[in-house]
Formats: sequence, structure tokens, C-alpha cells
Amino acid sequence: MRCKEVAEVIEQEGFSPLPDAARGHVAGCAACSALIADFERIVELAHEIPAEVEPPSRVWISLRARLEAEKIISEPDYVVQTQSAPWIFHATPSLYSYTTLCLPPDMCATNPA
Ligand SMILES: [Zn+2]
Repeated sequence: MRCKEVAEVIEQEGFSPLPDAARGHVAGCAACSALIADFERIVELAHEIPAEVEPPSRVWISLRARLEAEKIISEPDYVVQTQSAPWIFHATPSLYSYTTLCLPPDMCATNPA
């Protein structure tokens, strides 16, 4: 087995435990042994990373207020009327959501029918 084949076996089967097919090569190959050691160290360090913590809602409220104050975001002051453009909603709900949030007001006045 060659280093490239070891990499393929590890990619398919993982390295813990090391697949039997790769074990013999890795035992005699400094490069593959170092690679396995690096993987094991990465996994070990990853376990030390604390779980992601959801920030309190006041953080989001504060952030939104700040972004609105800096005019980076704004509340939409217009809505696509489903009665005037029902094809959007029936064609693709995600497109409807996008247009509801993102279309400039002058485009909302356009009736495609
Ligand atoms: Zn090797």
C-alpha cells in the first residue's frame, strides 16, 4: 500500500481505529504516522472546544438596533400583495419570501399579470 492509498482508506473509513489495510503501511511510514498523529491531535483539541452557546436575546435586540441606527439594515416598509402576484407564491415560496423582504418599493408596484 502507498501513502495515497492510505489517505483514501482513511478518507473512506476514518482513522480511529486505523483500518487493517492501512495499519501495516502506517507502521513503517514516517509521513503517514505523522499524518495520523496530526489527525489524533486535531480531534483531541476539538474535544476541548466548548460547545457553542446561544447568546441572550438582548444581544440580538441590541445588535439589530445598532444596525438599524447605522442604516445597515431597515424594516421593509412595503409588502408584495399575494392577490396581485399569486404566481410568485405558488411558483416558489422561497422566491416569494425573498421578494417580500428584498424588492425595492418601485418593483412592488409592478403587476406581472
Ligand atoms: Zn505513507
